[in-house]
Amino acid sequence: MKRSVVSFIAVAIVLIGTVLSGFAQPPAGLKMYVFSSGPLTIAKSALQSGAPSTQVQVPVGFFVVMHPKGNFLFDTGNNDKVINDPSYWGPMAQALQVVRTPDVAIDTQLKKINLTPNDIKYVAVGHMHLDHGGNVCKFPNATFLVQKDEMKNAAWPEPGTAGPYIPGDVACLRNGIGEALPNKFKMDQLEGDMDVFGDQSVVIKRWPGHTPGSQMVIVRLPKTGTTVLTSDNVYFSENVTKNLLPDISLAYYPTGILNAYEFIRVLQGRENANFMTAHDLDGPASKAAKTHAPQMFE
Ligand SMILES: [Zn+2]
Repeated sequence: MKRSVVSFIAVAIVLIGTVLSGFAQPPAGLKMYVFSSGPLTIAKSALQSGAPSTQVQVPVGFFVVMHPKGNFLFDTGNNDKVINDPSYWGPMAQALQVVRTPDVAIDTQLKKINLTPNDIKYVAVGHMHLDHGGNVCKFPNATFLVQKDEMKNAAWPEPGTAGPYIPGDVACLRNGIGEALPNKFKMDQLEGDMDVFGDQSVVIKRWPGHTPGSQMVIVRLPKTGTTVLTSDNVYFSENVTKNLLPDISLAYYPTGILNAYEFIRVLQGRENANFMTAHDLDGPASKAAKTHAPQMFE
């Protein structure tokens, strides 16, 4: 009797475990393209504490997931205005030596996979810094997915955090004067996670770390498998393996960044996950920057 109870419990635990870990199969044809906006140059030590202060040119990754229910864009690169008018970034254009060739414009890049901005259903940003939230206003037909506290910090930053937020990148989201709703475009100001298509293939994770309202995205691809898009909660893959934080100026909430590293390790164990950052020197965004060609993952 006692033994049958024990084995019943064991079977129940196995069943519950199977249910919890058994994600729906990703929809057939789900794929992701990795691009780079105009690369930036920055001291390696800014992105990895303890690294030499030598300048490195990093890609500026952004991602398109093609889902049967619509196209999802994660991050939008540098505002295309800097291509012709670097003063849009004030002193940041010179400081970051932003690459301003015409081919980095986001619509020019989307055309390479036969998309126009009107074909994008959702735009999400990892955060609203100049190299991630730059082009959010170029998608008037999309729904913009952003954490509420990131919007607040982008509009009126906490002391010490203002530098990488460009006021124009936020101002263009505002509705006309006199309108009751603040937002000109469709917008979901999130205060948590979101399963974008309801099938766990694209899941936004609220993850304060690099900024107050940072987000990461889990993409579950049919062949590549589970992939975490980290935005700037992770700069280099080595930061995860060695638990290295960036410079404090790029770590609003350092514990959140270290928790992001730990979350990636948990998903590596649980789902054999991999991860992609926006600025890794030898990730797919870097390859996209060097070859001027989007990198496809199925
Ligand atoms: Zn960045």
